[in-house]
Amino acid sequence: MFRFTSINDYHAALNAEHTTCTQAVKFYLDQITAHENLNAYLEVFAEEALEQAAILDAERKQGKRLGKLHGVIIGIKDVLSYKGHSLTAASKILENYTAVYTATAIQKLIDEGAIIIGRQNCDEFAMGSSNENSAYGPVKNAIDNSKVPGGSSGGSAVAVQAGLSMISIGSDTGGSVRQPADFCGVVGLKPSYGRISRYGLIAYASSFDQIGIFSKTIDDAALVLEVMAGEDEFDSTVSSKPVPAYSKEIEKTNSPKKVAYFKETLFHPGLDAEIKSKIESYLKDLTAKGYIVEAIDFSLLSYLVPTYYVLTTAEASSNLSRFDGIKFGHRTKESIADLNDLYKKTRTEGFGEEVQRRILLGSFVLSAGYFDAYFTKAQQVRQKLVDLTSTVFSKYDLILSPTVPSTAFGLGAHNHSATEMFLADIYTVYANLVGIPAISIPLFTHSNGMPFGLQVMSASFNEVGLLSFSKEQMLNKL
Ligand code: GLN
Repeated sequence: MFRFTSINDYHAALNAEHTTCTQAVKFYLDQITAHENLNAYLEVFAEEALEQAAILDAERKQGKRLGKLHGVIIGIKDVLSYKGHSLTAASKILENYTAVYTATAIQKLIDEGAIIIGRQNCDEFAMGSSNENSAYGPVKNAIDNSKVPGGSSGGSAVAVQAGLSMISIGSDTGGSVRQPADFCGVVGLKPSYGRISRYGLIAYASSFDQIGIFSKTIDDAALVLEVMAGEDEFDSTVSSKPVPAYSKEIEKTNSPKKVAYFKETLFHPGLDAEIKSKIESYLKDLTAKGYIVEAIDFSLLSYLVPTYYVLTTAEASSNLSRFDGIKFGHRTKESIADLNDLYKKTRTEGFGEEVQRRILLGSFVLSAGYFDAYFTKAQQVRQKLVDLTSTVFSKYDLILSPTVPSTAFGLGAHNHSATEMFLADIYTVYANLVGIPAISIPLFTHSNGMPFGLQVMSASFNEVGLLSFSKEQMLNKL
């Protein structure tokens, strides 16, 4: 039977003719069917994936140069454009929309031989922490079906967790890759802001959004990052810094040794006691192994979630204004003469409750009477965070923290309270507010049976340091 451990092992098996891309695709298609109850995929591109696999198998036999991701089976979150394929952002408003071009990051995967197997369920417009905001039903955590997988890239996390793709591509605006990775026990990487082109990613909050990677191993994440990263004439916010060969660099680089943690993160009242004690003893172990581990004060912790939600909803209210039934998306069937009424009816029908809440909140914080009190204030906090971050990274290589204050919660557990749900993001939004890369690595298991991760953050564009440290930690776990 086909078994996936890493891209390297898979390539070795292909080269040794122990397996073929076609066999791999068939295996994943069977697994996806067998796990339909998890609701991880909104659509599976079965025929196309098989056709692509046959082409790749033939090319390999002919001895053609193989792409870095030759035959790698990848699922994509349904916020990434893939020409000719439906693209819904898990929203009713885009129910019948077909992508007219392919996101740069996805094209780069395809150019290196990846097989895109389907589009994955998520929270509507990537807004949520539990995947319960999808118009197409919630995703279930494969370890315990009564639990959420996290969000917003829940389907993508579960696909890697349950072996329904080798790699998934998600997006992370405030934790949407790292938080579900933590809940599902897989690796979740959000690169630096500007590392990967956002062209073709449906915008939620453009100054926060970044495409991210789910994988089983650090090496796989490094390789996929190396393929997707880099300049793009279609995204002016993407960095022109050269892209290191991450998969090779992490082998050569000495793992960083100077780490800091924010005292307040470990003393937060919402943090689960067992997560706290396991992370604390982990930090002690690091010291014993010769790392420098120091606690630093972080008085701004309680401002992170409010700042994040003021700024992201403001950006979202603007970004989502294009979905009005005229420019994009669903239009109400009712015959309405007045244009404003048409917009209202269309958007009320098309958007779910959480998206509507955020558009309203965003319009409020941008409105004339409140702009300075909320939006300007939040921008000021963001600047303070940026300043503090550069001070921290002038002394330390990495910042460590829990990824999430709890393990995966029950489906429906936080549905009564938006603020309770928002607090699940307390440790993850910081990296997006300041644009630094961050990863959740699956190091721990709670006595309740659920996995949880360690979050590692580094200075912007120090993905090599971040990944080499993470790889070392994963190896120590084995
Ligand atoms: N849970 C956060 C939110 O709802 C993060 C979402 C994301 O990263 N896309 O905004």
